[in-house]
Amino acid sequence: QTLIAGIPKDRLEQIAAREARRFAQSRPKAAAALARGAGAFLGGVPMHWMSDWPMPHLPLVAKATGARLTDIDGYGIDDFCLGDTGSMFGHSPEPVARAIRKQAKRGLTYMLPTEDAMEAGRLLTETFGPFRWQIATTATDANRFSLRVARAVTGRPKVLVFNGCYHGTLDDTMVELSRGKTVNRAGLVGQVQDLTRGAVVCEFNDLAAVEKALAKGDVAAILTEPVMTNCCMVLPDPGFLDGLRRLATQHGALLIIDETHTISTGRGGYTRTHGLSPDMFVVGKCVAGGMPTAVWGMTQDVADRFAAYNATRAPGHSGMGTTLSANPMQFACLRATLEGVMTPENYAHMEAGAERLATGLAAAIEKHKAPWHVVRVGARVEFICAPGPLKNGSAAHKAHQPQVEAALHTALLNRGCLIAPFHNMMLVSPATKPRQIDRLIAAFDEILTDLFTPASDRVS
Ligand code: PMP
Repeated sequence: QTLIAGIPKDRLEQIAAREARRFAQSRPKAAAALARGAGAFLGGVPMHWMSDWPMPHLPLVAKATGARLTDIDGYGIDDFCLGDTGSMFGHSPEPVARAIRKQAKRGLTYMLPTEDAMEAGRLLTETFGPFRWQIATTATDANRFSLRVARAVTGRPKVLVFNGCYHGTLDDTMVELSRGKTVNRAGLVGQVQDLTRGAVVCEFNDLAAVEKALAKGDVAAILTEPVMTNCCMVLPDPGFLDGLRRLATQHGALLIIDETHTISTGRGGYTRTHGLSPDMFVVGKCVAGGMPTAVWGMTQDVADRFAAYNATRAPGHSGMGTTLSANPMQFACLRATLEGVMTPENYAHMEAGAERLATGLAAAIEKHKAPWHVVRVGARVEFICAPGPLKNGSAAHKAHQPQVEAALHTALLNRGCLIAPFHNMMLVSPATKPRQIDRLIAAFDEILTDLFTPASDRVS
């Protein structure tokens, strides 16, 4: 009998089919609405990632409040996906909703700053550290612009990234390791450039490889998350992040920390919580409570070097910025989030809830003797359908079990719980209630019972 992540293949397929049927039968209104409207979109979805959800078709959302969605078929869904971090602080947090209502009467975009912008700048520094800030609209853009500055001030071409990383759809980082060599990622659409001219890949937690790459003298910056969150979660070994700092300094490269997901760690992100000292700092997604906004900043030292570079730059387009960035609505929401949402009390609630969730999931895994494990970084929890801990992106890639995950995600949604697609990530927001967490744990336990206990042994 073939086992997939410890589950007999036949049983997995049977349960996946049962859950898919159950989903499809339960959502006639969504099916009808999609039949009427989806054809207008390329591939039937407004953004192609939406076709990666594993259900037979998508549910359509009627509304979301706190940590709960209601779909057009009338189901209430406990939301642990939270827009894959965009809504990590809950849907429409009240201070942000208030700021939106107020700003809506005062114009949406001007290409000029507001008083809120001045206060948001102060709050960014107070929250994340003394960086010199710029506002972008997506974390993808923030990373792209950070890389431009890093290349400009160092005069070097390459970014060093880790195998299995994700920093958005900027091409520069869309590389991977293949038999120890940096190559373009296989799935890239329409990529005709050789990205390896501007990038080098190492395995996470491998300081010797990083040192070897930096020694060539062509790396402008190391760009990394402090914890890898975009494959199955990989924690840094003790000393790894300090090692990156030391090696970057030693070899004249900058260290860019992308906190877009690890902002789950606590107020100020992983950087503040763990006392890291990056040269550049990036965070997006939830930083303005769900209003599309990202921020990127640099130390005064990098800012001075950039000013010197800029003074001699030829006039013309810089390649940084987008028209709608730094608009007044973003600043109103950024200020409201930094002031009234990213509070120590909210983080304490998220932390306690995530601990409750991680403990409950780990207990279910243990009870069913599943060869799986759970990882947590503050409010972010992941179950991984393989033994752990994982050491690097290659190990994380092997640990990924798309067939098991697809069945589980659909089964969880049938039981009223939504978790992030592509991986097994769950977020606990300030609005998430303990009873929602307990429902998710109970649903997970119920599905694991089906997956790991032969029908003949089940007590009904
Ligand atoms: N950085 C990290 C660490 C991310 O996880 C993501 C998105 N998952 C991004 C950047 C890009 O964010 P966006 O898609 O909002 O541009």
